[in-house]
Amino acid sequence: MAHTVTSPCVGTRDTACMKVCPVNCFYDVPLSELGIADPAGAAGNEELKKMLIIHPDECIDCGLCVPECPVSAVFPNDEVPDADKNYIEINANWFQGKDAETLDKYRITP
Ligand code: SF4
Ligand code: SF4
Repeated sequence: MAHTVTSPCVGTRDTACMKVCPVNCFYDVPLSELGIADPAGAAGNEELKKMLIIHPDECIDCGLCVPECPVSAVFPNDEVPDADKNYIEINANWFQGKDAETLDKYRITP
C-alpha cells in the first residue's frame, strides 16, 4: 500500500508533511503536470501552482505525515475519501516512466 496526498493540499501546500518523512518520498509537482487546475488565488504565486505527492513505491506507510497536515490531506490509500479516490491514481501515474535523475529534480526534502 502507500499513502496519498488528496485535494485539500491544492491551494495549501505548506510542506509540513515532508519535514517528518523518514524516507523523503514527497515530490513537489506542478498541478499542470497532474491535470489539476490551479486554485483560486494562485495567480502570481508559483508555490500554489504545485502540490506535494507521495511516491507509492518509496512510502513505507509509517503514517508520520498524516497528523502534520493542517488540512488533513494525507491518507493511507484504503482510507482516502470517496470524493478524492482519483488522487490515488493521480499520485501514482505521475511517477510512471520517470527515471531517477528526473525524479530527484522534483523530490522535496527538509
Ligand atoms: S506515511 Fe511515512 S513514509 Fe509515507 S509519505 Fe508519510 S511520512 Fe513518508
Ligand atoms: S499534504 Fe498537507 S502538509 Fe503536505 S504540503 Fe499538502 S497541505 Fe501541506
